[in-house]
Amino acid sequence: MKNAAVVIIDMLNDFVTGDLKCERAQHIIPNLKKLIEAARKHSIPVIYSNDAHYPQDIEVVRKWGKHAIKGTKGAEVIPELKPTEKDFIVEKRTYSGFYDTGLDSLLRSLYKGEGVKTVILGGLHTHICVRHTAADAFFRGYRIIIAKDGVETFRQEDHEQGLKYLENVYDAKLMTVDEIIEEMGTKPR
Ligand code: ZN
Repeated sequence: MKNAAVVIIDMLNDFVTGDLKCERAQHIIPNLKKLIEAARKHSIPVIYSNDAHYPQDIEVVRKWGKHAIKGTKGAEVIPELKPTEKDFIVEKRTYSGFYDTGLDSLLRSLYKGEGVKTVILGGLHTHICVRHTAADAFFRGYRIIIAKDGVETFRQEDHEQGLKYLENVYDAKLMTVDEIIEEMGTKPR
């Protein structure tokens, strides 16, 4: 797992317990906590890709209604997965963590400018923000690992189809958090 980064997508109060609450998000919290802690231990960068909307954003106005408004409690990472000072937070205003954000240049600057080669994605939702972030990662040449027990969405069907799509279309490797952690520990980065 050479030059990896963990990218945690939209594990925010509004997505877990607030305006766009997803019950099914609960069971991925301990897995993501484990993943994040292991990454920190292995000096693998942890990046939070967070919705930080203006009320005028197209997604808010046209599709989902008010959620994760920049500067509100709802737009903060859930307390269980709270970022530390060493982690990175990259705000986004629509599904993809790359669209009009500094994520790509951040990834390219890491590992002393060698850049990140593999992104490990976790968070919400499998077939929406995870999928669009994976698409943009693929277009930019990154290898993609999906923490398959660290992503979720509202319905099982969408979750399963979402995982298949990520694997089939973006060549994403689907791995459990335990499998990912094992690779962090054994293979040279
Ligand atoms: Zn949003």
